[in-house]
Amino acid sequence: MSNTDPVPAEVACAPSPFTSVLHPREVPLGGPRAIRVRRTLPQRERSLIGAWCFADHYGPHDLRSSPGGTGMDVPPHPHTGLQTVSWLFSGEIEHRDSAGVHAMVRPGELNLMTAGAGICHSEVSVISGPAATVLHGVQLWVALPDADRDTDRDFAHFAPPPQSLGDATLRVFLGELAGARSPVHTFTPLLGAQLDLDPGADLSLDIDRRFEHGVLLDQGSVDVAGTTLDIADLAFQQAGCDQLSIVNRGDEPARVLLLGGTPFPEQLIMWWNFVGRSHDDIATYRRQWQDRDDRFGSVVGYTGSTTRLPAPPLPNGRLRPRANPAP
Ligand code: MN
Repeated sequence: MSNTDPVPAEVACAPSPFTSVLHPREVPLGGPRAIRVRRTLPQRERSLIGAWCFADHYGPHDLRSSPGGTGMDVPPHPHTGLQTVSWLFSGEIEHRDSAGVHAMVRPGELNLMTAGAGICHSEVSVISGPAATVLHGVQLWVALPDADRDTDRDFAHFAPPPQSLGDATLRVFLGELAGARSPVHTFTPLLGAQLDLDPGADLSLDIDRRFEHGVLLDQGSVDVAGTTLDIADLAFQQAGCDQLSIVNRGDEPARVLLLGGTPFPEQLIMWWNFVGRSHDDIATYRRQWQDRDDRFGSVVGYTGSTTRLPAPPLPNGRLRPRANPAP
């Protein structure tokens, strides 16, 4: 996934105070026929939940109604200082990156790409069979801490076994919850999981009290900590809580994503597809991408119309991390 806004706003990320529900805004992924995504992170009220710094929710999108059958076609574009998490509910995406990875992203399977000092990748939805005609999922970014942000490019794949919690089913793809644990390395304490709830399911999950949590509603009628969510809303619960209450109030199954982590103390500057710490970091990354610098390598095998996404112009003035709001 790429931020293809031609004039991306400067987003400086820092810890911010309690927010109960973050509502999404619709953003086109680029191109007149591009799918639209619902973005809940970052936004003015809150930049991060733990180290989770970006959250796009998309679909369900019927690819057969799309010209050429393509719902997502993001040409090679760069990243720095972050990891990308691709998680699908349905559909299939073909991933290629400059670490030499060619992977098919499939429902219920974690695909975690570590950009570190620099990577580039392409993402194209494909229809591999009757079960893959509806594209539906999320794209999430994790900020790397300063000590690790220039780490090597990497890629991890993990298909978490579903774990029954009675009237709910849990898939932990990062971190640990309710006795289920992902083996995938994270650079900060982190939780990422899918939770499917039967009609009427009423859960109080025991959580790590050091963690702040987000609950992204994908489908169904769900209350989080007593507050009703709309589809693609992201509920936020601050750190210091021992339990997270999630209730399916509807008579249909519901599905949410759980995101969590210890509050991320560092100030970041996010601009376009880069995470850095200063204006000069971002300006350097941008210039190096435009100059085809070795920092980002190259993608082999992408056959779309554009060989790479050009970076938008930097805004006037210097990019600055936003000051922490008063608690
Ligand atoms: Mn991307």
